[in-house]
Amino acid sequence: MPFSTHPNYAALWSILRRTKPTNALIAITVALIICATGLSLWVPLLTKAWLDNLSATQQFSWSALFGLAAALIGGGILSGVQYHQLGKLGNLQKRNLRNELFDHVVNLPIAFFDRTLSGEPANRIVKDTEIIEDLVSNQTASMLSGLLQLLGSFFILWFLDWRLTAVLFLAIVLSFLAILPFTAKLAAISKQQQDSEASLMANLTEWFAQIRLLRSATAHSQINQEVQCKVKQLFTLAMQEVRTVAMMSPLVNTAIMASIIAVLGFGATLVAKQQMTIGTFVAFIMFLLNIVFPVMQLSLFAAAFNKAAGAALRLAELFAEPKRHLGNLQLKIAGQDIQLHNLNFGYDNNAAVLKGLDMTLAAGKTTAIVALSGGGKSTLFALLQGFYQAKQGAIYIGTDNLAEADLDHYLAQTGYVAQDAPVLSGTLRDNLVLGLDALPSAEQLTSALNDADLYEFVSTLPQGLETFVGERGVTLSGGQRQRLALARCLLRKPNLLLLDEVTANLDALSETRIQHALAQAAQGRTTLIAAHRLSTILSADCIYVMEFGKIIGQGNHNALMQQLPQYKQLIDKQFRLEQQNSYDS
Ligand code: ADP
Repeated sequence: MPFSTHPNYAALWSILRRTKPTNALIAITVALIICATGLSLWVPLLTKAWLDNLSATQQFSWSALFGLAAALIGGGILSGVQYHQLGKLGNLQKRNLRNELFDHVVNLPIAFFDRTLSGEPANRIVKDTEIIEDLVSNQTASMLSGLLQLLGSFFILWFLDWRLTAVLFLAIVLSFLAILPFTAKLAAISKQQQDSEASLMANLTEWFAQIRLLRSATAHSQINQEVQCKVKQLFTLAMQEVRTVAMMSPLVNTAIMASIIAVLGFGATLVAKQQMTIGTFVAFIMFLLNIVFPVMQLSLFAAAFNKAAGAALRLAELFAEPKRHLGNLQLKIAGQDIQLHNLNFGYDNNAAVLKGLDMTLAAGKTTAIVALSGGGKSTLFALLQGFYQAKQGAIYIGTDNLAEADLDHYLAQTGYVAQDAPVLSGTLRDNLVLGLDALPSAEQLTSALNDADLYEFVSTLPQGLETFVGERGVTLSGGQRQRLALARCLLRKPNLLLLDEVTANLDALSETRIQHALAQAAQGRTTLIAAHRLSTILSADCIYVMEFGKIIGQGNHNALMQQLPQYKQLIDKQFRLEQQNSYDS
């Protein structure tokens, strides 16, 4: 298959071009490689001249020796500078690639993350970029200078003695052809290894993050088996690689030794017959080494190249994922009614979740939505945050369609508190100021903490807001996490408040305080609250009742109790539960 049409190679080419450092830097590096290689080709010629002069005149030429030493030192300095430049080139490429990849992945639609283990893109950003960097920093230089040395050496050798060169050329071509099938096999194995490693890494990341679940579900042996199976698969691939190298290496070594012996034998005969000078013969041997190493490097390069091509294909697949749709309409939420018009939505793999949903969130008012669990409330919140696009219908902010909005500008005006109140590792303060453009003052922080009923808890901590909360906030209780999320939300001073069962994890006392804070926070703000507690429902200006993704009624509590039996049932059930809870506590 031609280079450009092989998917891996085409991907590698496009990735390298996409994130390449400046042309000037590339040109300087290539020039350095050419100069360093030129010098290394010159050294055997200087040696030959020195030796021939020595054997012809029996006089030790210091000037020739100094010339030789100067060429050697110059070559050393050049190769140091070349190494530095190549390292810079490769690392710049890696830096650009990582930045671009992260920017791309972080902007992918939420649906991508629904179907992908989060360790996967992380692995690509860290590991695959490393493989490409190795190709640029190390392998390409070796290959380029190796190739130049190979061609240059052959060219010079041809003029030194074409018969000996012909023998050498034949030996090299035969060796190269012999190892070609092995390098192809190694490339295929390497691709499978990378895929399997990436998959194991993604699984391990998730399993360690969910270690409590695994332990309480006593899933150790089950997971153990899965890990063993994947590790075995990696072992099998590694052994295939070992066997291939075990067959290839002796072949390469034997071929090299045979070439050297053939050239030495033939060369020695020519010297004995005085058809070749001793200087030419020594230069020949030096050139021979100049050729042998590049040939070995070329086979290494082929493996590294194929490995990088595999990595590039995975990166190209990631880049090919379309980014989330971002319009450029700068919406203003404050003072605008929000209309959800005939919303139809289903997740990629599932049946319809929202079926022709119509709803209005009046500006500055609190709207409650009541539904059974699984009814689609969280999905509605996700759509209101632009995480997914409706299959049909639209969300209008005033008269503007949310689908055309600059989502980040819109989301900066919203505050969302989720049921499970996610928290990041870091300090309490880090979590509070997440996403804020301007850092809040101490008073603003205290006021938000007070409003979220978190102030007292923070005061009991020796390190206060600088307390670390562990991965996903494991050192906090469910209620504390929820109050932290609420405080974070309040600090944003949002115009649209989206509260998804915020009080679900709170005790009765905390809930009463939060209710008050929520009522205050909701003042003058457009608020949608998924409610399951009677007190929350009663505080709303308008209540919508949702069943199987459809609105089946709306109004105030009293009207709904009289007119909608489904609502009465839900409330009765909830009321019984709440009474039960209050007896229990
Ligand atoms: P609620 O918040 O009312 O409990 P959800 O909106 O979470 O309901 O769920 C509604 C339906 O959508 C459920 O059937 C659920 O299985 C499905 N669902 C929720 N989130 C996803 C998702 N990310 N991918 C696929 N299906 C989902």
